[in-house]
Amino acid sequence: MVLIGGGVIGLELGMVYQKLGTKITVVELMDQLLPGTDPDLVRVVQKHLKKDGADIHLKSKAVKLEKSGGKAKVTIETDGKEQVVEAEKVLVAVGFKPNSAGLGLEGVGVKLDERGHIAIDDQMRTNVPSIFAIGDVAGMPYLAHKASKEGEIAAEVIAGHKSARDYRGMPAAIFTDPEIATVGMTESEAKAQGKKVKIGKFPFAASGRAMAVSETDGFIKVIIDEADHQLLGVAIVGPEASDLISESALALEMCAFAEDVALTVHPHPTLGEGVMEAFKHALGEAVHIMNR
Ligand SMILES: Cc1cc2nc3c(=O)[nH]c(=O)nc-3n(C[C@H](O)[C@H](O)[C@H](O)COP(=O)(O)OP(=O)(O)OC[C@H]3O[C@@H](n4cnc5c(N)ncnc54)[C@H](O)[C@@H]3O)c2cc1C
Repeated sequence: MVLIGGGVIGLELGMVYQKLGTKITVVELMDQLLPGTDPDLVRVVQKHLKKDGADIHLKSKAVKLEKSGGKAKVTIETDGKEQVVEAEKVLVAVGFKPNSAGLGLEGVGVKLDERGHIAIDDQMRTNVPSIFAIGDVAGMPYLAHKASKEGEIAAEVIAGHKSARDYRGMPAAIFTDPEIATVGMTESEAKAQGKKVKIGKFPFAASGRAMAVSETDGFIKVIIDEADHQLLGVAIVGPEASDLISESALALEMCAFAEDVALTVHPHPTLGEGVMEAFKHALGEAVHIMNR
């Protein structure tokens, strides 16, 4: 199977087929898989993809598709050179766009942004005060829980409450193997904002629980402000990352400092202990790994 697009949806679905025994070839336009995700995390998933036999073409473009004898021939262009890959199936996971055409929005004067999303304010209101929009059609990130939250806000505003979008971080999970989950700023986003940061990193290889479930690949990375230790972001790649991230989402929402999580006793033996240790590591106080 050729996957056109090595983004979230392409890799989530592609890795399912890979687990079922399908040989996959990934074609990705950008210079890394899962564009926009911290490359530190992506490396771990890429290693698993390759170990299970995937061919990965980065900075590459699918330029032609021919069908013959029940098979597809996909022409891939990399650095100006073309090669043809034969496949039984082609999974197209690119070209996600807002489905805002044909709703008659022009007729009532609702404004769209340059990509076709419905433009809204922090109360989910469009430029026409009685019309609200939420979810994918109202802009990125395209996440189910973001759509839900926006639905709640819109309903509250319509009911006359002083509700508005004011969250500090939107958690995101990628259901590859291993999973990736993030909340808040990435290391490079924080640096781009001129912040001096400290990084704490705890590898699952040092977690007793991860060893017990034989899933020791990956790590928990926390990004804190160097000056006051306020939490800026957390990124996890490894077992149960999508569940582990909620604690950090709460910490971020409560404007927690690294000490708040580091000093919270976590039960043993759990993967969650790794979150505590990553925060301790950012403070130079890790117990189960070397501090720098
Ligand atoms: C393969 C895939 C995997 C995903 N996995 C995840 C995940 O693991 N976690 C996550 O958080 N997000 C995931 N997402 C994203 C998530 O599905 C979306 O962010 C979420 O569904 C957005 O909700 P929504 O209500 O805005 O839009 P939708 O869920 O798309 O709902 C819009 C509905 O409106 C209907 N509709 C469209 N036009 C009209 C019309 N003119 N009249 C009436 N009805 C209409 C559509 O048929 C649809 O049912 C995934 C998306 C895809 C495609």
